[in-house]
Amino acid sequence: MNDFTYRLLGLCGGHCWAEAIDIIEREYSGVSEEEVLATLDLLKGRGFFSHRFLDREIQHPNMDELWQHKPRRLQLFLAQKCNLACRYCYAENSGSNARNKLMGWDVAKSAVDYLVKRSGERENLRVTFFGGEPLLNYKVLRRVVVYCDELSQRTGKKFSFELITNGTLLNKEIADYVAERNFSLLISIDGWREMHNFQRPSVDGRDYYDTILNNAKYIVKRYRELKSRTRIFIRANMTPRYHDARKIVDYLEGQGFNSVGVSSIVSLPYDDETPGALTREQMDVIDSDYEQLLLEILLDLEQGRRLSPYRNRYISTMVMHKLKEGMTLGITCGIGRNTNAVDCDGNIYPCHRYVGMDKYIIGDIFSGLSPSRTMGLYHEYNQCALKECSGCWAHRICAGGCAWERSAPDGAIYERMPTDCERFRRTIEKFMWLDKEMRKRCPGVYSDMQKSRGRGDEEIKNWSWD
Ligand code: SF4
Ligand code: SF4
Repeated sequence: MNDFTYRLLGLCGGHCWAEAIDIIEREYSGVSEEEVLATLDLLKGRGFFSHRFLDREIQHPNMDELWQHKPRRLQLFLAQKCNLACRYCYAENSGSNARNKLMGWDVAKSAVDYLVKRSGERENLRVTFFGGEPLLNYKVLRRVVVYCDELSQRTGKKFSFELITNGTLLNKEIADYVAERNFSLLISIDGWREMHNFQRPSVDGRDYYDTILNNAKYIVKRYRELKSRTRIFIRANMTPRYHDARKIVDYLEGQGFNSVGVSSIVSLPYDDETPGALTREQMDVIDSDYEQLLLEILLDLEQGRRLSPYRNRYISTMVMHKLKEGMTLGITCGIGRNTNAVDCDGNIYPCHRYVGMDKYIIGDIFSGLSPSRTMGLYHEYNQCALKECSGCWAHRICAGGCAWERSAPDGAIYERMPTDCERFRRTIEKFMWLDKEMRKRCPGVYSDMQKSRGRGDEEIKNWSWD
């Protein structure tokens, strides 16, 4: 994207086309009106300025498309209980963990059957073991894997598995099994001992920090020994007390973890006191720090320096993939379509974060999805986006943001907070700026990234601390 196109896109956020053309002509002496019009047409052709999915007239076909989609992924809540009580945990806040239940084998089996049936002709399916802490129900986890093996033989479907765990119970026996079966893995470690224990206290008051760290190190070692290409992701969360992303990443990479991610706990539009949420001011500081990080990474790339795994992944996800992927489907993520989350009683929710929020049960694994509830959710969500997003240039990419963040426990769908919209648009502007800078300053790396989306991931997998 050249300079004036980037500027033009920014101008279209607050000006009509005629004004935008005027300003461009004044600011860029060599650019003619025809050129600006041609660029506007090109952007339009790529889906910018279009609100196709916000149009009331086409709500129905769009809804149908959402409904017909075959799911690929099942999120099984093996345990609606946990041995930790993290300050920011949505399963604690939604009341999911308070149900204090483990999933029985009959429910787990029926959930897998449900996925196979609903997935239609899709061949590759994924089962994610979720909770609470899913390893509290390790026996059922093992039975699910065996059952999926049997189903593979009978139906030709291929299953992959994913485990989201707090790491406390990931002992040697379980780690060996998980590594052998090549699960994708996400382990939550918030940083150093004091930080982790403050944010993720245990229910019984014991300090599990060493256990978690040692378990995580052991399983990382096992994956390396097995030369597994599957990533073990270590995720940390930032809260008002601890929000120095670089310090957290440096610490965790220093422990030998190659795939570290840091998330911000954000406040929700319907809740002034979202537990563990960062303040707007803190979010602004974090944003400027990420901007600074981008500048440093660009300089590293320009000067041919090797990036750390975190920096590598950060830059490769920032390169403009998302802008090139075409229109979004009205709801950006896979809720109720690619993904179904199932609780211990067999209720289906749009995604893992909704589990425990009764107003968002969209069906059950025994009788299937309820069309009225599922379509009702999409409809409500799109109606809300219709009001709020119709004048926003970023709609093609955002489509209203994370549905869960806008869904209040009483069933009301809220608008995204204007400050969050601003932040999102700034991020997209950063994507565009980065795209432009990389073409100019490090065209070789840029074209490699364009050729292979997974390049960053490959480098992370091949990274060695030796
Ligand atoms: S940034 Fe805000 S206004 Fe724009 S599409 Fe997203 S939610 Fe809607
Ligand atoms: S983006 Fe939000 S609604 Fe969508 S899957 Fe993620 S948490 Fe759920």
